[in-house]
Amino acid sequence: MTIKTRFAPSPTGHLHVGNIRTALHNWMFARKNSGEFLLRLDDTDKTRSKEEYVTAIRGDLAWLGIHPDSEERQSERFDRYEAQFAELKAAGRVYPAYETAQELDLKRKVQLGRGKPPIYDRAALDLSQDEIAGLEAEGRKAHWRFKLDHDTPIVWTDLIRGDQNFDPALLSDPVIRREDGSWLYMLPSTIDDIDMGITHVVRGEDHVANTAVQIQMFQAFGAAIPDFAHEALLVGTEGKLSKRLGSLGVSGFRERHIEPQSIVALLARIGTSDPVEPIADGSLLVEAFDFSRFGRAPARFDDEELAQLNQKIVHVLNFEDVKDRLPDAMTAQGWELVRPNLHHMGEVDQWWQVVTGPIAEPELTPEDQDFLHEAQSTLETLSWGDGIWKEWTVKLKEQTGRKGKSLFMPLRQALTGLDHGPDMSAMLPLIGRDAALERLKAAIS
Ligand code: GLU
Repeated sequence: MTIKTRFAPSPTGHLHVGNIRTALHNWMFARKNSGEFLLRLDDTDKTRSKEEYVTAIRGDLAWLGIHPDSEERQSERFDRYEAQFAELKAAGRVYPAYETAQELDLKRKVQLGRGKPPIYDRAALDLSQDEIAGLEAEGRKAHWRFKLDHDTPIVWTDLIRGDQNFDPALLSDPVIRREDGSWLYMLPSTIDDIDMGITHVVRGEDHVANTAVQIQMFQAFGAAIPDFAHEALLVGTEGKLSKRLGSLGVSGFRERHIEPQSIVALLARIGTSDPVEPIADGSLLVEAFDFSRFGRAPARFDDEELAQLNQKIVHVLNFEDVKDRLPDAMTAQGWELVRPNLHHMGEVDQWWQVVTGPIAEPELTPEDQDFLHEAQSTLETLSWGDGIWKEWTVKLKEQTGRKGKSLFMPLRQALTGLDHGPDMSAMLPLIGRDAALERLKAAIS
């Protein structure tokens, strides 16, 4: 059997870090099992679904390296839902109801007032044909509910939550279709999961109660029930995800120079018993992916952790990974020079400018200026090569007696305009002889 998972966003907005995590886990699980990963666009809501969000969702997944094997859209499947709905109707598993939102609200309040759970009382099932005709004559339109089977307990073994047990009598028959004929989420999703051969449904634990209902829908169609994995929700450091990076989508991550590999490495591991590690090669994360490592407690998303992980990831990226985003003249050697100094890729230009110039004018004491005079004339006598820094500084040490910081710092300041930065022995050959002599001259003039 081919493992098949799906990610089913509604294109009513941009993906945020919580959806991205769900998408990622579905994709990783399919990958790990040589299965397929489907992108299903839940666009039944015609007014709220927007084509720009469809495009953005595809683009965001691609940026993360998540490539669906196939794509489906619910808006293209209304005929199918209609046919399946007719089947449930013929089998007596759906029924019309006419209560208004206010009437339902009142019922709930009364139940709660009596200390009872607010479960729909199935009053609509008792309506006679005459009463229905009367309501329709008043201009009322039916919405439709799925009739749960109270005699069949709902059980499944969740891949994350373990054994789950629901008494259907304690659930309301869900509304599956509105007065205007439009579909709510519950039934189309089940029909799709059946038709598209979904073997594993991976989603947030806010869907656990939906799963209980949908299991009875699978049964009503005589379909195989997929496996389920409900993951604990993602929360921010302050307990919610509304602030800072957590609320941002992919465009926010890009603006802040967060690498896709960093998002993947973090979201693959938070909330699991495996440590978050700077693993830039996604296939290694896929290999280790396992629902049994997932915890039941909410996963904490921390901006700071992401920024730190991102820095570590940048430090292991190869020239090949980044070359399209580097300044034109920057070679693999240049990348290796600059890389250890980066907090994120947004700093490449600024470090590369230290090589190519112009640089800031250093502030030097008269003693250091004298020293730099000597450094300049010494450098002029040496033959230029990759070992130039070592040769030059050894010589200067002999000549001046300077060592350590007092030897190296004025040179660094004169050559880079900064008092910290990349390894000078790697940097000096890249700066080049002429530019180096020019900078020394400029520093002492
Ligand atoms: N469109 C639904 C949502 O975004 C899909 C839920 C599911 O995975 O079944 O919540």
